[in-house]
Amino acid sequence: MHELGLTQNIIDMAVSEARDRKVTGINLVIGELSGVVEESIRFCFDVVSKDTPAAGARLCVTKVAAVIRCASCSSTFGLEREGLCPECGKRGGEVTAGREFYLESIEVED
Ligand SMILES: [Zn+2]
Repeated sequence: MHELGLTQNIIDMAVSEARDRKVTGINLVIGELSGVVEESIRFCFDVVSKDTPAAGARLCVTKVAAVIRCASCSSTFGLEREGLCPECGKRGGEVTAGREFYLESIEVED
C-alpha cells in the first residue's frame, strides 16, 4: 500500500513546515494519473497523523484532470478520449497534466 509512505511524507513535510505549531489544514494536489487514491490517503492520514501536530487536521484535496497532448497535431484532450486525438484521430501523445501529487500548502494554528 504505497499511499502509507506517501501520506507519511506529506505529514512529515507539513509538521516540519509548521515548526511546532499545530497543523489545522493540509491542502493536497492529486492528479488523475498519479495513481494515488484519495480515499486511501484519507484512511492513512488518520492512522499516520495520530500523536503528531497534524492530528485532526482538515485534509483538502484538489484533483487535477489528465491532459494529453497529441504527438501529431498538438491538440490536447482528456482521458475520456481513451488516448485517441479528437482532431486527427491518431493515438498517443504526451501527458502534460494529471501526474501531480504534492503538498500545496498547510494551515496552522495562530
Ligand atoms: Zn492529433
